[in-house]
Amino acid sequence: MSTKIATESVAFELVSGLEIHVQLNTQSKIFSSDSAAFGAKPNEHISAVSLALPGALPKLNKEVVAKAIRIGLALNCEINQHNFFDRKNYFYADLPKGYQITQDNSPICKNGYLNVVLANGEEKRIGINRIHLEEDAGKSLHDQDAKYSYVDLNRAGVPLIEIVTEPDIRSAEEASALLTEIRQLVRHLNVSDGNMEEGSLRCDANISIRENGSTEFGTRCEVKNLNSIRNVRRAMEFEFNRQIEVIGNGGKIIQSTLNFDANKGTTSPMRTKEEANDYRYFPDPDLQPISISDEWLNEIKSAMPALPKEIAKQLVAEFGINKVEANMLAEDTDLFTYFNAAKTKVNNQKSLVNWLLGSIRALLNEEGIGIGAYKVKPNQLADVINLVDDKKISQQNALQQLLPALVINQNKTAESVAAELNLLIVEDNDAISEFIDEVLTKYNPQVEAYKSGKKGVLGLFVGEVMKLAKGKADAKKISDLIIEKLK
Ligand code: ADP
Ligand code: MG
Repeated sequence: MSTKIATESVAFELVSGLEIHVQLNTQSKIFSSDSAAFGAKPNEHISAVSLALPGALPKLNKEVVAKAIRIGLALNCEINQHNFFDRKNYFYADLPKGYQITQDNSPICKNGYLNVVLANGEEKRIGINRIHLEEDAGKSLHDQDAKYSYVDLNRAGVPLIEIVTEPDIRSAEEASALLTEIRQLVRHLNVSDGNMEEGSLRCDANISIRENGSTEFGTRCEVKNLNSIRNVRRAMEFEFNRQIEVIGNGGKIIQSTLNFDANKGTTSPMRTKEEANDYRYFPDPDLQPISISDEWLNEIKSAMPALPKEIAKQLVAEFGINKVEANMLAEDTDLFTYFNAAKTKVNNQKSLVNWLLGSIRALLNEEGIGIGAYKVKPNQLADVINLVDDKKISQQNALQQLLPALVINQNKTAESVAAELNLLIVEDNDAISEFIDEVLTKYNPQVEAYKSGKKGVLGLFVGEVMKLAKGKADAKKISDLIIEKLK
């Protein structure tokens, strides 16, 4: 007999752990020298190993191990210096070997955590249970022919890591904060391009609910293959409500694997636990266990770059910028790379920060591109900023005329291009003084207003003088001269 629980009066909490698959950006595959690049024509990147021809033997790509260690260190994991590969046996058309090489019993990294920052500024620690290495499978193409399915094995053997979190996630917001930070980290460490659209980062979400205050976990369902942060959120929200409804109707959650329909925003069953595959894991006899020497591990540790959070802290201390600005710089790998390239050439580094986060960002937004696609090189931008800081050119002329001109004059210095465009500020005080007189005569009523205390009209005078000077004057200097004249 089942009793109906009045769910309106019982509050539930969401519990979730994620399994995040990250495609590593090595040049070759995990067990062969085939290219691991995305976007080739079907079956261009296949050798005997990818095809699983009889007798073909896998050989481990060392770079894959190095990249997994780097992400493990960034996620505060213990590195398992002795680990090995297992075979996960199942039948599928895009898996010619009949098994996937993965790690079941001895993941390369374990027991880590990541502190994610939530919208309200609070930090939440999410445990990382393990990170293991594995190969990707090929791809079945069902839409090429009316009668047949085709198989493309380019992806077979592309290296993946799977990051498995503890069931520490309590909301869709925490899940998306975690994924956002992991995507930043893999990019920052040059471990993966983190591109969710192309499937370089995808995730399965395990979701259960329990009554508020309960310390026991409920039965979980696993939503497979979520390919955007938005869909992770939507799947979690849908599952949370669905499970509450099942329990409210006196039902039980059955442990199962679910699909997510991105069009409808709903989940539907793929298989239950009873129908689950028995993968018959066992150590792969074709591969040696991996042994990571102290020496190599230390080498990798000392080559680790500072992580975005540390960089942000340093930036706050060094340049006196606020936390939000520092995070904007530190979290965007391309922007930070650009900043570093320009940093040594610019005289005032705080100016560089202001330009990058202000005018340049606005300009890029307008063009709809990232800094990686910006045609002005870091050293050119540094030169332009120096010219503005030295009051040799106005900020407006720099932005509107000099920067675009530099794109087509890559070999000339910023100063020479500014001179050719006649943008250099003329230090001709007499000329400026004449312009000021002209403006003050023309705007006589405003001059009277100024004298009777309406100091706000000063901006009008400066603007008009600047127009006459064709922008080639220093606004501060004009302003000082006008104030002097009107005393
Ligand atoms: P299995 O080996 O059966 O897949 P794991 O221990 O590897 O189980 O867990 C898989 C994922 O499920 C992990 O991310 C874990 O955090 C998550 N998980 C485990 N129990 C629950 C639960 N009750 N509710 C939500 N997520 C859970
Ligand atoms: Mg699992």
